[in-house]
Amino acid sequence: MTSTTLSTPSTGKYEQPTGLFINNEFVKGVDGKTIEVINPSTEELICSVHEATEKDVDIAVSAARKAFEGEWRHVTPENRGRLLVKLGELFEKNADKLAAVESLDNGKALSMAKVDVNMAASTLRYYGGWADKVEGKVVHTNNDVFAYVKKEPIGVCGQIIPWNFPLLMWAWKIGPAVATGNTIVMKTAEQTPLSALVASTLIKEAGFPPGVINNITGLGRIAGAAIASHMDIDKVAFTGSTLIGRQILKAAAGSNLKKVTLELGGKSPNIIFADADIDDAISWANFGIFFNHGQCCCAGSRIYVQESIYDKFLARFKERATQNVVGNPFDANTFQGPQVSQLQFDRIMEYIEHGKQSGATLETGGKRKGDKGYFIEPTIFSNVPDDARIGNEEIFGPVVTISKFKDADEAVRIGNDSNYGLAAAVHTKDLNTAIRVSNDLRAGTVWVNNYNQLHHALPFGGYKESGIGRELGEEALANYTQTKTVNIRLAGSIF
Ligand code: ADP
Repeated sequence: MTSTTLSTPSTGKYEQPTGLFINNEFVKGVDGKTIEVINPSTEELICSVHEATEKDVDIAVSAARKAFEGEWRHVTPENRGRLLVKLGELFEKNADKLAAVESLDNGKALSMAKVDVNMAASTLRYYGGWADKVEGKVVHTNNDVFAYVKKEPIGVCGQIIPWNFPLLMWAWKIGPAVATGNTIVMKTAEQTPLSALVASTLIKEAGFPPGVINNITGLGRIAGAAIASHMDIDKVAFTGSTLIGRQILKAAAGSNLKKVTLELGGKSPNIIFADADIDDAISWANFGIFFNHGQCCCAGSRIYVQESIYDKFLARFKERATQNVVGNPFDANTFQGPQVSQLQFDRIMEYIEHGKQSGATLETGGKRKGDKGYFIEPTIFSNVPDDARIGNEEIFGPVVTISKFKDADEAVRIGNDSNYGLAAAVHTKDLNTAIRVSNDLRAGTVWVNNYNQLHHALPFGGYKESGIGRELGEEALANYTQTKTVNIRLAGSIF
């Protein structure tokens, strides 16, 4: 069996594929292993899906290689674009189902899952538009030579994605890779395989040739590691923890020197100046950290407030955080659902315990919510000692630290005091402060008077240990192309 009948509270019964999607077909894993998929809201089993091991990675890579060297080469850029646009349209047509499956599996609020699906559709359409606009150039070196530089696909791309935005990460990776003519072996996260399996049915429906996009579910240390060290994968794109990102880079270096792009962790500063609109700043600070249950690599997990408004801000921010509705993702009012897994829940609770023991002040939250499901109260710590783990390490949960600063210089210094550099934000009404501080912050994205606002046309990625390369926008195309120089000596030349 490579599918099972499931039901979501919002869309009712549906057929859930559970196989590995290789060559446009759902198949069982060679070793017959399966992975249990748990509902994070109830801690109950949703279903089991087939697990890919090294042998299945080999099969998927062969399929992708065959497609790359065969039928896919003859699909024109224009038609690659059409296929991506069609896939985006199918996402929109199936939006309710995709969003419901995402909420069921990941635990995110249905309203937020719907936004993810729309953004995924937009990303696919956007890269569909790019497919026939990847251009090279002619370079004049001397009159006896005709030389041109062209962009070519890299080949078979391994793509390893996390569980926090399963469908969105899928689209961010597939869009630029397909637009530029590569083929794909995608490995979804073992915690959240379901939505991408539903989306895989749309690949075939959109008309992609077999083997162009293969989608497998497997454990990171087995299937993920097999992708990273595979001798016939030309490029690996990874989104996940910095810890695993380092391993991927090492595996690439130790195998065939495949090209690597990494989108990793963060501990992003959210800086609020005294002249900011305080109501807006509180809303964005709240959204910055508690959106997606704090499970965002760019979460604003370090809040810095200028000292003259610190007490007022903290009192109102606490009040705001306690108003966030934490509960069933399918309830219309829910803002924050459960953490994705028992493991993540335990990690976060451990950080909260560390925070308490470090001498920091627990301003609000800090406890489990309810007795079933991985729900955690929005949690705020103040007076955090400089060396406390909660102030320096990525928690990936609804936990934030808040402290004060005197002036812009201090804000920049403490904002930059991190090994990470994924994102940052500045809240102020002063244009000079906004631009000067944005210029000085060492982060791949700086938001001014907002937070967590991503757009498919704007590059996203990290400074420092937050990554290598940029996703989204035109820049992402560079991750999936290589440059070829063709140097033609003309007949009759003197050399
Ligand atoms: P988290 O700790 O938040 O789950 P990870 O970085 O471990 O984040 O996981 C992100 C993705 O990386 C998942 O798809 C996971 O299966 C995969 N992964 C985990 N370990 C490895 C590994 N050793 N090699 C390759 N991929 C891995």
